Amino acid sequence: MIRVDLPQKDMPRKWYNIQADMSEPLAPPIHPGTKEPVRLEDLQAIFPDELIKQEVSTERFIDIPEEILNIYKIWRPSPLMRAKKLEEFLQTPAKIYYKYEGVSPAGSHKPNTAVPQAYYNKKAGIKRLATETGAGQWGSALSLAGAYFGIEIMVYMVKVSYDQKPYRKFMIETWGGKVVPSPSPLTQIGRKMLEEDPNTNGSLGLAISEAVEDALSRKDTNYALGSVLNHVCLHQTIIGEEAIKQFQIINDYPDVVIGCVGGGSNFAGISFPYIREKMNGKKIDIIAVEPSACPTMTKGLYAYDYGDIAGLTPIIMMYTLGHKFMPPSIHAGGLRYHGMAPLVSYFAKKGLISARAYTQTEVFKAASDFAKTEGLIVAPESSHAVKAAIDEALKSKEEKNPKTILFNLSGHGYFDLVSYDKFNTGQLSDFHLAGEEIKKALEHLPLTNKN
Ligand SMILES: *Cc1c(COP(=O)(O)O)cnc(C)c1O
Repeated sequence: MIRVDLPQKDMPRKWYNIQADMSEPLAPPIHPGTKEPVRLEDLQAIFPDELIKQEVSTERFIDIPEEILNIYKIWRPSPLMRAKKLEEFLQTPAKIYYKYEGVSPAGSHKPNTAVPQAYYNKKAGIKRLATETGAGQWGSALSLAGAYFGIEIMVYMVKVSYDQKPYRKFMIETWGGKVVPSPSPLTQIGRKMLEEDPNTNGSLGLAISEAVEDALSRKDTNYALGSVLNHVCLHQTIIGEEAIKQFQIINDYPDVVIGCVGGGSNFAGISFPYIREKMNGKKIDIIAVEPSACPTMTKGLYAYDYGDIAGLTPIIMMYTLGHKFMPPSIHAGGLRYHGMAPLVSYFAKKGLISARAYTQTEVFKAASDFAKTEGLIVAPESSHAVKAAIDEALKSKEEKNPKTILFNLSGHGYFDLVSYDKFNTGQLSDFHLAGEEIKKALEHLPLTNKN
């Protein structure tokens, strides 16, 4: 079968909480001011109770409320596809499958968590959500969710993207959200930055600071984050739970499971249910793929660090390149994050998953081969997973038992065609990070010096 559709009546009705299956709890997040573990009250200032409960829950399966299922059903279950044409092109005996998350209205996996986040905030009486966005994938997903539930969405969009990548800004506005370039004159931190440099490009760290300040300053407003946090990873597990059922339909099983990693949420979504299966005895290689320009898992440290550049967020235990690390501006903007979801980091540290890194010209070559064989033009982020799947399939040519490979295709690339043009016309270059740069960024970790 080329396309495996799970009937809507068989759609999973629970998210999988991997925290139930850990041999020890995650190291506690630390408050940036007091340097003590974060208290519930600190979180309650910007998150609704239901999401805080999920963040720390150790219940194995969490019911997906009916209202959320009904919205998921607009595009879910997402199809499991067999990349037959790509297999033929590679002349590999391996089978390559992908779970296609580009079918959501926003074009990526991000609405899987944007919808529950808007829902639980609405139920808690919140009228408005503030968030940040880089290239606009998360801002547009949350704006979509805001439209479904009648919540006002306020997006602080990194100024350089706001100016240069207007399409997702138009999507945010079409769904009724409000979007301003960050830094903005609407917040204290924004005004301060504008005073210092009116022509600044802005950064994701700064946009986070503005969104959090906005949420803290208004009673009717909370904050929403599109990756990294435990409850975000939880919501994405619908991807892997569906995949398990789809493989049952075709009586097959993946030997290799692959996802690209920025903050880690789509990878968590496809892989956590398979990590459970692996802990229960299945033999599966689970691979996280990152850009070599931002090699968090392959070159970073497992340590306590801030989630943002300004040092305003809690300090969390994760793989990190140092919160001051400024990745080169590669086209896979969604993978330019210095840290990694604590849950993904934990399972990497435990050896249940592995990580690898590729350069941007390598991944665009893979995406180009994929487009020419399968037709789909994938997001630059997803092209990292495509490249790893191709490499695994080529390796299979020398193996006795050809592999069954599954990767998550996190989103389509129809708003990223400028980067394809750069690749097609030979203008794409690679960055070679000096070990020195990484070493330097890692000198600024909090809680490490004893004085
Ligand atoms: C945001 C994004 C990513 C990276 O975020 P994760 O939290 O690591 O999943 C990957 N692919 C696409 C299409 C995205 O929009």
